[in-house]
Amino acid sequence: MELREHAEALASSLGEDTEEVLAELEGLLQYHVPLEEAKQSIRRARGADGGGGGPAVERPIGGISVDDDRVSVVGRVQTLGRRRIRSGGDETVLREGLLADESGSVTYTAWADCGFAVGDVIAVDGASVREWDGRAELNINGPEQVTEVDDDRVSVEPLGAVPIAEIRPGDRGLTVEVQVTDLEARDIDGRSGPTTIWSGVVGDASGRAPLTDWAHRDTLAEGASVRMEEVYIREFRGVPQVSLSEFSTVTPIDEVPVRTDAETVTIGEALAAGGRFDVETVGNVLEVRDGSGLIERCPECGRLVQNEQCRAHGRVDGVDDLRVKAIIDDGTGAMTAIFGTELTATLYGADLDAALSAARDAMDRGVVSTEIDQAITGHRMAVRGDISVDEYGATCNVRSMQRDPDDAADRAAALLTEVGT
Ligand SMILES: [Zn+2]
Repeated sequence: MELREHAEALASSLGEDTEEVLAELEGLLQYHVPLEEAKQSIRRARGADGGGGGPAVERPIGGISVDDDRVSVVGRVQTLGRRRIRSGGDETVLREGLLADESGSVTYTAWADCGFAVGDVIAVDGASVREWDGRAELNINGPEQVTEVDDDRVSVEPLGAVPIAEIRPGDRGLTVEVQVTDLEARDIDGRSGPTTIWSGVVGDASGRAPLTDWAHRDTLAEGASVRMEEVYIREFRGVPQVSLSEFSTVTPIDEVPVRTDAETVTIGEALAAGGRFDVETVGNVLEVRDGSGLIERCPECGRLVQNEQCRAHGRVDGVDDLRVKAIIDDGTGAMTAIFGTELTATLYGADLDAALSAARDAMDRGVVSTEIDQAITGHRMAVRGDISVDEYGATCNVRSMQRDPDDAADRAAALLTEVGT
């Protein structure tokens, strides 16, 4: 069914103009509101919401399934974030977050202020269940469905501040307690003209993550330790990022120690997390890919130049550079590791000038990559950097590395095993 047909059906049931309803629907869908919710929201705005669905069933939160229609639950509000959406001329502030009891947790969206706060234990009567990203999510229409109940109705503890190592893209309305280790203002082209955003890095004892904010706040400064409430976790270049909104609050607290070494993770863990910021992995170099060794970059944009062509700028005079793109596998998964100029010079054992002169001597630029291939393929390597994950898999932009890390003992053991068999 086309969107227009939905709009027509809805408009006729409401006795309204199709174009007007269609514009409102499109507005809501633009904010990723699912179609059924968008339709319900439009009905509700006209006082025509029937509530819909069959009778509600009582469920433990862990027992809610995408096949449920309406459920009644009791749980603790673990997170709560507000988000402003606009449709037509109207503005709605959604509440989104996580509700939990002993049996599990479920995300919710409330379409109005229902009077509850983070930490409250609430009974929700007849929330509709929708499928979101393959999982059940509760949809709360308004305050008439919510009652605050005794704290001891559930034994699950309040969530409190979430360690940075545990944040995941899609988390909404979290509290984190961090130190701002980097912060800078950047001018970008926003939807309504040039705008300034603040970006940086925050950390706690568990790890670090990038930060972005769209407004200046006096409490947000480099070196400040702060409690951030109502933050959203988004994905930025494949890693989880702490994002502040107009509703977020930033309050000074006692100094938060920041983990400075990188957590060691497996590639499988980084893939499962959808990307990790500043971690270390240890694996075997399986292959040095094309586009490694002595390469040429576009002077305009830095992209790789092939056959004197830049993908964005056409024919250009390339600038020589060194780079390695290698496949590293640790048994749990594989990733592409990208080493920049200096790290590549270290792997090659000589700098760019030496690489150029070797290429001239051999009359073949490929000699550099061949030599790097021979030096590292089959070797273990520890690499530290940000791992991003997209539909093509995991990629690590390597900040530092260690060749054949501390595995002399492992190798000796492996050798002994081989000798023994
Ligand atoms: Zn270019």
